[in-house]
Amino acid sequence: MSSLGTEQQPLQVAIVGSGPSGFYVAESLLKSDTAVRIAMIERLPAPFGLVRYGVAPDHPKLKEVIPVYDRIAQSPQFSFYGNVTVGRDVSVAELRNAFHVVVLASGAESDRRMGIPGEDLPGSYTATEFVGWYNGHPDFQDRSFDLDQEVAVIIGQGNVAIDVCRILAKTVDELRHTDITAHALDRLATSKIQEIHLVGRRGPAQTKFTTKEFRELGVLADCDPVVDPADLALNPESQAELSDKRGAVAKKNLEVLQGFLARPSRGARRRVHLRFLLSPVELKGGTHLDRVVFERNQLKGGPFEQSARGTGSREELAAGLLFRSIGYRGTPIPGVSFDPKQGIIPTRESRVTDEAGAVVSGLFATGWIKRGPSGIIGTNKPDAVATVQSILADLPSLDTGPRPGNAALAALLAGRRRVVSYRDWQAIDAAEIKRGLSEGKPREKFTRVDEMLGVLP
Ligand code: NAP
Repeated sequence: MSSLGTEQQPLQVAIVGSGPSGFYVAESLLKSDTAVRIAMIERLPAPFGLVRYGVAPDHPKLKEVIPVYDRIAQSPQFSFYGNVTVGRDVSVAELRNAFHVVVLASGAESDRRMGIPGEDLPGSYTATEFVGWYNGHPDFQDRSFDLDQEVAVIIGQGNVAIDVCRILAKTVDELRHTDITAHALDRLATSKIQEIHLVGRRGPAQTKFTTKEFRELGVLADCDPVVDPADLALNPESQAELSDKRGAVAKKNLEVLQGFLARPSRGARRRVHLRFLLSPVELKGGTHLDRVVFERNQLKGGPFEQSARGTGSREELAAGLLFRSIGYRGTPIPGVSFDPKQGIIPTRESRVTDEAGAVVSGLFATGWIKRGPSGIIGTNKPDAVATVQSILADLPSLDTGPRPGNAALAALLAGRRRVVSYRDWQAIDAAEIKRGLSEGKPREKFTRVDEMLGVLP
């Protein structure tokens, strides 16, 4: 019988990615009866993935999971390898030689495209890059966004679209004491945006917003929500959705819209226009976006299966700034199969499959790179538990040959990379918190990898 998973022969696991999905896999493994050693590998010197770089700076409560991850990282069975890119500094094949199990938890780093003419005109950006920019993600610090425009359009009606909308709509005073970067705050302070159109391709009963987030658009300091009453007339299928318990959130969101409609305008400096049944079909402009062409849609299909179909009727909106916020996409990892259509790694019960559909022994995926970009932070917890169940179920069939784990990884990386340990990260963390103190901010993030490494001895 295999003794893999005992203190004599602990299960050596490498987790690629340090966002919520990676940390919940580590937690679930550590809570199991199996003796494990975990190496978590992260491309950036800073851990926590979308909790650090995706969660909006004005939603600090969502970051309260960080102390939980911090406790996991303090476990003697856990080691952190920051500033290491899998596929560049170390290959998946090398990891599979060094560890019994490799878990890919790399999230969804890219975004879906609209696939329309003019999509790449200056003035048209992705929510991903804007969110990364204001949250201090090193990949996006050289981007500049044309906030000298008066009219902005956001395509998509999910929670990311709401985050982008709020950051554009809020006053500097509403953001000043958050962990938004100083650079982003300075640029937003000079923003000339007055009108923000938050545009959905389907109707007011099909928004993907969380109601709490949506309601917040009604309590901004200097921005009024605007709703066209004609937009709130629902077709019978949408009415059926709202009277079903699966439509509970949509029903509350509709109540929020009705509340916006009932309130008188306060004459605020900015307005958010909630727009429905419109799909962008072309972005126009010579050297810069100046008009968005929409096609009006109607809904087709039964309750909960309604999709947007173009009616042929078009309208144009003069706008010089557009963010598409229509969903994230995973990116491939060299040496691992990838489904380009869905932007995920193909799996069977979290076990990665190869191009022929066969399970690759010892290789697993979890979180958004496995199931696609859906759900909130906590959704990754049961997902990770399911991943770990598959790992533990496979223990008897895993190759029990020598897997030196950390020792092998450290040897591979020596000379290739300045590895950032968890202790190193704690030094960076402390330095960021100190930088934020004088401004009354929870932290002032370092936005460049070199700055982070500069803190370390
Ligand atoms: P999402 O919730 O899937 O929303 C995507 C939006 O884009 C939907 O309105 C979708 O419309 C629309 N869309 C997709 N393709 C389109 C196209 N070709 N043209 C026009 N519209 C299109 O995605 P997300 O906002 O990126 O959020 C990702 C996940 O993170 C979600 O689960 C979200 O709840 C979560 N998140 C949570 C928080 C929070 O809890 N505070 C914050 C941020 C993100 P259809 O419905 O018609 O497809």
